[in-house]
Amino acid sequence: MSASLIDGKAFAAGLRGRLGAATAQLKAAHGFVPGLAVVLVGHDPASEVYVRNKGIAAREVGFHALEFKLPADASEDQVLARVAALNNDRDVHGILVQFPVPKQVRQEAILDALNPAKDVDGLTATNAGLLVAGRDGLVSCTPQGCMMLIADQRADISGLHAVVVGRSILVGKPMATLLTNANATVTLAHSRTRDLAAVCRSADILVAAVGRPDMVRGDWVKPGAIVIDVGMNRIALPDGKTKLVGDVAFGEAKEIAAAITPVPGGVGPMTIACLLRNTLIAACRQRGVAVPAGI
Ligand code: NDP
Repeated sequence: MSASLIDGKAFAAGLRGRLGAATAQLKAAHGFVPGLAVVLVGHDPASEVYVRNKGIAAREVGFHALEFKLPADASEDQVLARVAALNNDRDVHGILVQFPVPKQVRQEAILDALNPAKDVDGLTATNAGLLVAGRDGLVSCTPQGCMMLIADQRADISGLHAVVVGRSILVGKPMATLLTNANATVTLAHSRTRDLAAVCRSADILVAAVGRPDMVRGDWVKPGAIVIDVGMNRIALPDGKTKLVGDVAFGEAKEIAAAITPVPGGVGPMTIACLLRNTLIAACRQRGVAVPAGI
């Protein structure tokens, strides 16, 4: 058996198209467009690429996009002052501080300063709490994107066993909560889990969010499972080039699973599309208008 490929790139392109149409609709009907501000502290090359890509994606759907760069030696107070200014800017509906930040700046201090209504990464304690309570907030982008891909495969996951490997605040924990809220029976596995292979083998839905190349082998996958690979690992090849691979040994797992996300082109594109979606939702809530249908 060979799994069907879950094409996150195409799914995300469709979502971005709908967001573009919704933005045009908001502008025509209400005279505003969603505004996204991204703050980068320091010069981490990967973060610079992420920030640039987020700005490009936001402009492509018609958003007002701002980028703020602070030096690597910026103090915590300087970063907090930038966050406070953006909290008070009526044209900025979403704020994203690119993590990781240099060590003199506490991530928690930034998240605690951020207006939860503008927390489009869904990382503040307020939004994390709303998610656990099953109430409307802003949902962390990567897990939100994974849920859309899963729902596209199987509309009702009620009673299925979902295993999430990885318990980070960014991915694993919100992912497990979203699956729980969708009535799956959820196991949240991590580095202390015993016999991880057996735990994974019992999953109807398997989400790997670890950061270890090809850790999940083909014989860890239950025949017919939906496999979502969040991992993004850059590995060196013998010829000196590098390659992006996931946490799942794709070649093996695709022979066993019913459906699987590739890396790249699976979860990655959904993360940025969901960031844009959160920004549009945040903008509508802040302006007191209904979120256009279909996004
Ligand atoms: P973190 O490093 O924050 O968390 C990794 C998790 O994996 C931890 O909970 C850790 O367990 C667990 N873990 C580590 N080793 C093992 C092991 N041997 N067995 C079982 N569990 C293990 O990573 P993130 O959640 O931020 O990211 C995970 C991966 O997803 C990375 O590759 C990252 O690049 C990628 N990513 C991709 C995104 C996308 O858009 N596609 C977005 C965000 C992340 P413990 O808690 O016990 O230490």
